[in-house]
Amino acid sequence: MIRTRFAPSPTGFLHIGGARTALFSWAYARKHGGKFILRIEDTDVERSTPEAVQAILDGMNWLGLDYDEGPYYQMQRMERYKQVIQKMLDEGKAYHCYCSREELDAMRASQMAANLKPRYNGFWRPEPGKVLPETPAGIPPVVRFRNPADGVVAWDDMVKGRIAISNQELDDLIIARADGTPTYNFCVVVDDADMGITHVIRGDDHVNNTPRQINLLQALGATIPQYAHLSMILGDDGQKLSKRHGAVSVMQYAEDGYLPPAVLNYLARLGWSHGDEEVFTMQQFCQWFDLDHITPSAAQFNTEKLNWLNAHYLKQSANGLLAEEVAKRLSARGIDSNSGVDLLAVIALYKERVSTLNELAGAVEFFYKQIQPSQELLDKHLTSDVIPVLKALVANLDAGAWAQQAIHDAIQQAVTDNSLKFPKIAMPLRVMVTGGAQSPSIDAVMELMGKQEVLSRINKYLV
Ligand code: GLU
Repeated sequence: MIRTRFAPSPTGFLHIGGARTALFSWAYARKHGGKFILRIEDTDVERSTPEAVQAILDGMNWLGLDYDEGPYYQMQRMERYKQVIQKMLDEGKAYHCYCSREELDAMRASQMAANLKPRYNGFWRPEPGKVLPETPAGIPPVVRFRNPADGVVAWDDMVKGRIAISNQELDDLIIARADGTPTYNFCVVVDDADMGITHVIRGDDHVNNTPRQINLLQALGATIPQYAHLSMILGDDGQKLSKRHGAVSVMQYAEDGYLPPAVLNYLARLGWSHGDEEVFTMQQFCQWFDLDHITPSAAQFNTEKLNWLNAHYLKQSANGLLAEEVAKRLSARGIDSNSGVDLLAVIALYKERVSTLNELAGAVEFFYKQIQPSQELLDKHLTSDVIPVLKALVANLDAGAWAQQAIHDAIQQAVTDNSLKFPKIAMPLRVMVTGGAQSPSIDAVMELMGKQEVLSRINKYLV
């Protein structure tokens, strides 16, 4: 049974890199009929916040990454960690260290002076035949893991290949602080063991922790999971993705008008591929996903591609769903789209022309509010030579049937009668009716808006 986990630290929002890690872990479990577990690593009490926990849950929920177990909270598992620490002490796999900060600093300074890599010198480490100093009174000790002294710790990383580290490179890690609280790597290890995690899929900023974690797991007699370390995501500009790049939080994408299937599809292709497939459902992704096709090199974010995918999913989305999202956005701008032109019809006319929900809302808001075309557009298109033509056209429109074809024919008639080009009339109409210079075919927009409203918008300029 495959068991994967996503183990974010709640110190900020759920960022795009975290979401990809979650997606890959989720998909791996789904593909193999396994279990996907959510674990909140909140032991850094200074930096963890309830808001950040909520942001993670919201992000997972928005993306639809459902978990089978959890969320587990490490802060609720303190007793368990302490129990394991005691067991390791009892079994001689860990030991108390009474070195003070000053002693450690001095140790470090003398090692540096001798051109040695600074490390704990094993002063309190029990060895067969070694006599330890008297336990100092009144000093609460830290607990250190008795790391193997030699040999190598190695694993076949499913993304990066074989990685081997000499144990001599590894210190005797502190697993509990002087106040008894367990440290980061230790909690991860106890959890991965207790939760029966078979595949650890995470960011490669954790590669350095892995040899320590493997040694600890071995000491606990736990099965060592497979590791897959994902390389980082670079921004559009090739630099490490950061706040500078604008939207890095998943919920920011929600706010900016991206659709979950587009973001998921996009994230799936960040460092993973299945032949040339670019557009696929999560169902297909879960069938195809494997760790062999993850590239070990860094993936670069490409906003244009995300926009292209989002446009694709917008086109495919039901008008009702889009209308709901657009109405929300318009209402946030104080625009009521519940009365007036049927929003569903408006969406149907516009959804092929935009990449995001926000763009969609922006493109259609003129139906529901007073517009004020810029003087520049008016000057450019509403020239004195077309005003008489437009007046005659309005009279014809008023007398004729209000349907797209009839409107089109009337415009065409005006164009022909006056030996003009179509845009010469269509553009001023567009500016007066929509307030801008871009729209789908103007006859379609006019039909939808309704005769009364269209003529009242136009007539303002023809007096
Ligand atoms: N809590 C760690 C983080 O947010 C992840 C730990 C892990 O996946 O092992 O970076």
